[in-house]
Amino acid sequence: MNGQKEESRTVVCGQKEAIFVNINPGMVFVADMTKFTFYGHASFSIETGGKTLLFDPFFTGNPLAKDIDTDKIMADYIFITHGHGDHTGDLVALAKKTGALCVGAFEVAGWLQKNGVEKVHPLNHGGPVAFDFGKARAVNAIHSSSFGDGSYAGNPLGYVFTTANGNFYVSGDTALTMDMQLIPLWAAKLDFAVFPIGGNYTMDPADAIHASDFVKCNTVVGVHYNTWPIVTIDTEKAKADFAAAGKKLLLPGVGKTIEL
Ligand SMILES: [Zn+2]
Repeated sequence: MNGQKEESRTVVCGQKEAIFVNINPGMVFVADMTKFTFYGHASFSIETGGKTLLFDPFFTGNPLAKDIDTDKIMADYIFITHGHGDHTGDLVALAKKTGALCVGAFEVAGWLQKNGVEKVHPLNHGGPVAFDFGKARAVNAIHSSSFGDGSYAGNPLGYVFTTANGNFYVSGDTALTMDMQLIPLWAAKLDFAVFPIGGNYTMDPADAIHASDFVKCNTVVGVHYNTWPIVTIDTEKAKADFAAAGKKLLLPGVGKTIEL
């Protein structure tokens, strides 16, 4: 059926599920599922196109991550949204242990180099940067950013990822902002968005529902909640509110992996 997209799922090598998308007769494109693994608070990994992207490693002092064995965490890239300790607490240790390329604001990259991490890619808001798994674009986040010693860590960032495997948006710690309405210009179809939902420092579930409208994506993975009393929410109500708005709020357990 020329010009029509056929989709079917199958199991490859008895273990890995893949989607075969037949866009044109005679041409088959194989797309792996994107995997999301949660480490508690706002630390997580996304596996896409055979690469592992670790975000905001925070294990020491993270009450949700006490059972995570950091020796088992692998990463090809570490993306950093901002300098606060609940996003960079284990950044230097994990960067050195994994040998990953660390991507973050210019000031964060400089701080990493001062701390002995050589593999860094500094960026700032602007055009997308090509990596071997796809492209990443740093976008605005309404928050603040400094390191634990109070030194300046540049602008807080979110990231929009566009890959052959699919597109996704990691907002970082942020309030709801009209800037999110720009994101569909750069990624017309997002497969999922990762939003903070704990309130107080960031969006709460109600604002995350508005954010999901702004970015035109109805599948949201919630982070930055229930770590401490100040960011505690009613997760059942949050899921029900998302469902009532025709959206899905995914809250994987700590150490759990979901496919998206
Ligand atoms: Zn935070």
